[in-house]
Amino acid sequence: MRVVVDQDLCGTTGQCVLTLPGTFRQREPDGVAEVCVATVPQALHVAVRLAASQCPVAAIRVIESDAGDDERASADAAPSRRNPSGMPRKTNNPEGHDGTV
Ligand code: SF4
Repeated sequence: MRVVVDQDLCGTTGQCVLTLPGTFRQREPDGVAEVCVATVPQALHVAVRLAASQCPVAAIRVIESDAGDDERASADAAPSRRNPSGMPRKTNNPEGHDGTV
């Protein structure tokens, strides 16, 4: 997920910064919000959607998917197929029967 702030719309309320100070910050000279992360960590997706929904001028746009998310999704899927213990897996078909009768 990525998130962007339309800086022409931002009303400088600072609400998003108060909600997620590690994700949003306000520029020094004018208080306009900016995003300070390239991609939003999975753990913050809900909070970022909430911040976007609470922006009084709808200046925060959430981009749900990007190439980085796709790469991470692929990487996340791979370990679930691995056996983390390194021990041989037990199977329900130890003899290798193909299921035909
Ligand atoms: S909540 Fe919206 S208007 Fe307020 S600082 Fe953030 S982006 Fe700007």
